Amino acid sequence: MSFIKEERADTYLFTVPAFSKTGLVEHGFTCRLGGVSAGDFASFNLAFHVGDRPEQVRKNRQKMVSLINGDLASLVAAEQVHGHHVSVVGLRERGRGSTAYDSALPGTDALITNVPGIILSTYYADCVPVFFLDPVHKAVALAHAGWKGTVQQIVVHTVKKMTALYGTNPAECLAAIGPSIGKCCFQVDEPVWKQFARTIENYNKFSSFRVPEKWFLDLPGINEHLLIQNGFRRENITQSGLCTSCHNDIFFSYRKDGGKTGRQAALIMLKERCH
Ligand SMILES: [Zn+2]
Repeated sequence: MSFIKEERADTYLFTVPAFSKTGLVEHGFTCRLGGVSAGDFASFNLAFHVGDRPEQVRKNRQKMVSLINGDLASLVAAEQVHGHHVSVVGLRERGRGSTAYDSALPGTDALITNVPGIILSTYYADCVPVFFLDPVHKAVALAHAGWKGTVQQIVVHTVKKMTALYGTNPAECLAAIGPSIGKCCFQVDEPVWKQFARTIENYNKFSSFRVPEKWFLDLPGINEHLLIQNGFRRENITQSGLCTSCHNDIFFSYRKDGGKTGRQAALIMLKERCH
């Protein structure tokens, strides 16, 4: 099963059927269409740190949270640094980074929470978004895994923290790997390739060699492999199969757009319980 492309309010939201089916969460991955930003950021740019006008980003974020029936005051965003730090989000962090970059959670690339109503968010243009939902202990997480985060196994750090805090059993946990640069387009040189060779078991399965001194890496595949190695069931992992560089008409792509571009968002929120 892949992601579903849902049309909502003149844009698309990519959602995970296995997550929707639980009835526990609102979630999704945005695209570049349907926002108010102009130029390189046209049009649904959701990040403050890329050089776009902040008032446009705030308008786009307002629309973004409405796509999942949330409100901006409940959004939490991080200062993503391509590291492996996982931040625990509670009511105290509610609103951090929601309307400006300087209040975002510092030095953080993964967010976890078990508090209903809080919207976790992470931002992307090629890096791999990984969604987590523990339907048993009712906890959620997002991890931002670019090549550096993947080498540092940020998905493993995220799951370990969910287990330590919420009792998450990886065998019962759902995961989804969203639109990101695929093995068709993610070309790296030897120093990067060597870091994978040193740290990722079976890395050869996920790299191909088509141009002299250049390798193509399958980052979504490596992240899935890391999850399975750490106890996830393959059938509980959804892959989008969508490459942001190949589908540059729908998605911002850092590589395809030459570095100056907007960001998509991954969003997840536990629904408030009905009384
Ligand atoms: Zn591609």
